[in-house]
Amino acid sequence: MKSLLAFGLFRFAQAASLLLLSAFITEAAFAQSVSYYKFTPPVIRSTETQNILFEVRVIGASTRVALDFSPAGSQPLLDLLDNGTNGDRQAEDGIYSVTLTPTQVLQGLSTDDVFRRFIGFLRLFQGTTVTSSYNIIAAIHTPEIPPVVVQELASDMQSTDYVVNIYDPAYFSATNRDDYLNNISKRLYQAFGDVYDMLDFVSVTNYIANAHHIGVKNDIQGIGQRIFDNSAARGSNGTLLGFNVFPNESLFDGAATVYIHEFGHQWIQFMQLVPFSIGIPHWPISSLASGVMGFSIPPTSQGGTYNCRLVSETGGVRLQPDDNPKTFTDFDLYMMGLVAEQEVGEHIVFDDQNDPTIRQCNGQLYTGPITRVHASDVVAAFGPRIPNVATSPKSFRVATVVISSDGLLSPEAMAFYTFFAKRAEATQALATHIGLAKGLSNPFVTATGNRANLVAALVTISPAALPDASFATAYSKLLNQSGLLGVPNWSISAGALPPGLMLDAASGVLSGAPTMPGTFHFTVRASSNNYFSEHAYSLHVGQGAPVITVTAPAPNIVGNLVSYAVTVKPEAIGSPNPTGEVQFKLNGNAIGNAISPVNGIASLTLDAPATGAYRVSVDYSGDSNYLAGSSTANTKLFVFQYSVRDDRSGDYILFNATPAARNIPRGGFYINSCGHQLPPIPARTGIGAVSGGKCTITLTHLTSTGSNSFQVILNTCRNQGVVTNGSVTNPILLLCDSDTTNNTGFCR
Ligand SMILES: [Zn+2]
Repeated sequence: MKSLLAFGLFRFAQAASLLLLSAFITEAAFAQSVSYYKFTPPVIRSTETQNILFEVRVIGASTRVALDFSPAGSQPLLDLLDNGTNGDRQAEDGIYSVTLTPTQVLQGLSTDDVFRRFIGFLRLFQGTTVTSSYNIIAAIHTPEIPPVVVQELASDMQSTDYVVNIYDPAYFSATNRDDYLNNISKRLYQAFGDVYDMLDFVSVTNYIANAHHIGVKNDIQGIGQRIFDNSAARGSNGTLLGFNVFPNESLFDGAATVYIHEFGHQWIQFMQLVPFSIGIPHWPISSLASGVMGFSIPPTSQGGTYNCRLVSETGGVRLQPDDNPKTFTDFDLYMMGLVAEQEVGEHIVFDDQNDPTIRQCNGQLYTGPITRVHASDVVAAFGPRIPNVATSPKSFRVATVVISSDGLLSPEAMAFYTFFAKRAEATQALATHIGLAKGLSNPFVTATGNRANLVAALVTISPAALPDASFATAYSKLLNQSGLLGVPNWSISAGALPPGLMLDAASGVLSGAPTMPGTFHFTVRASSNNYFSEHAYSLHVGQGAPVITVTAPAPNIVGNLVSYAVTVKPEAIGSPNPTGEVQFKLNGNAIGNAISPVNGIASLTLDAPATGAYRVSVDYSGDSNYLAGSSTANTKLFVFQYSVRDDRSGDYILFNATPAARNIPRGGFYINSCGHQLPPIPARTGIGAVSGGKCTITLTHLTSTGSNSFQVILNTCRNQGVVTNGSVTNPILLLCDSDTTNNTGFCR
């Protein structure tokens, strides 16, 4: 479904009553034509100091290709060459080139140029005969264009609040560029929500081709258009209605009549009903043609403007010139679902469309045959419009995609296209410059009499991608949106979040602790004021890292049992416990068998190792939910020997802790006998007391950093002989743990 809006970048003066809405005419009568012209860079800064490459793709053989600066004859013709020199990239490839100085491009830029300067005509020659001419328009960025924030989304995609730039050289070599747009739209939907009624495509390489509308979907009854939905092939799930294609960047301005004209082609006009059918896809020459949609110029049916107001009088129709900015007619508005059938007035269609006088809008009274048409004719032929004005959409979202051929656009170019895309939302007539036409144009809102509006701001949800999450590990990410008015409500519109995560409807915070590993696909929606944006995410939940904590064993004695304990727990409280196995290690060497924790807890009891200091650690095997890992900190185990012996006189007992284990208190103590007081010499560090038949000797730990106590409890104070290696049942409790000086000496 394609309809064309003629773009005469033509050179010839038009009949006064007939102005092409825009502006290219290729010269079919000649063998040569121009396929495109192109500036490098595509948008030229007003402060540019480097020369600018200007290239033209010529189809067919011309004897000369030259640029004729405006005004004509103001400068000598500047020849473009296809010989591989002076900037020409490749000889004899049909692309003619010349380098232009900044002055040649920028000179004389005026306000009414609206940042697009007509620099002159491109002339194709056969001998000395000019066979065809083309208007050449340069896009110029000046500091008057507000700067924008450009977000790079990928190596082939960047965006501002209003424009997505997709770098795709394949578009420019595609056999059918309009077909190729399906790839571009699908690429767009990979990063942006499926929320747009229309997509605008702008080519920065200027093809000599007309702006046009491609219908993607129609579900409107009563406008003569069939019901269809080809949105899936474009990557949309039924939201997308159509493409507006601007093959030449100079045609793209959201405030221009050509822009809203293409928009109007979504509904206008398809009616196989005389006399409307004469004008498909525009109107026949008629009062209907006075509006934005114009009439179809034979034989190509490109859109032409009809700057004429038809006033019915006795005996005929008065053709009054009317150069006011175009609006949609009441008939247009009915087709668009913006007024009721009863609000549409009578319209006049000339029966003889070939009568040249019907184009002579000079105040004449036309007395030839006419047909009067009414909205009721449409209803009679095609049924009522469904939905009608009460329920039809009144606001439309559009996304602007600028396609570039040589990499992503400069920040200035992004600002330039943002400026023009944003103008689609303008609420009053603005100065426009399309082709050679300059003047005020009504944007969509005013052209519909404030009955409908366009929203050109992109609706974006960021970030573009989410960082990975981990099982049983706290996760929090704030989602943001731009483009929606008001405070959005956040929800999941498709798919499902990883279990354990939730999206806060008010704040847009995605948080929680995942309880299932895997990759989860879901679509986030931000809604506000009946608009929404969506963004599809894939969130990978990897295995979590368990928190492994080894419980420090108390200092121990050779020959005793040591109990090692570990907890292997989720980081997030309440998450499932790890189910793998733990392996205890001393100094990195495994001890005991690997064991499975129960509820995240495991313990191992073994004989104490030989005297010494040991690092105690635990390795975790990992499981389907948790990564393998090791305890983050080692704890220390101190093992020592002691001996207790009588001095044979029964007067004292020597306590000997060996060997060099740190933290073991040093010192000897003497017990002359139970019931006796400790001798004063050597007083050393402790005193003994007898209670319940046991001697308890409390020693002060000799350290430089503090003091700790320990006890030696002997079953009998009259201990005879040597007791070693802790083999006695005498429990020794050492309450000492601070790091002290290494102490190796025999306790005196
Ligand atoms: Zn058109």
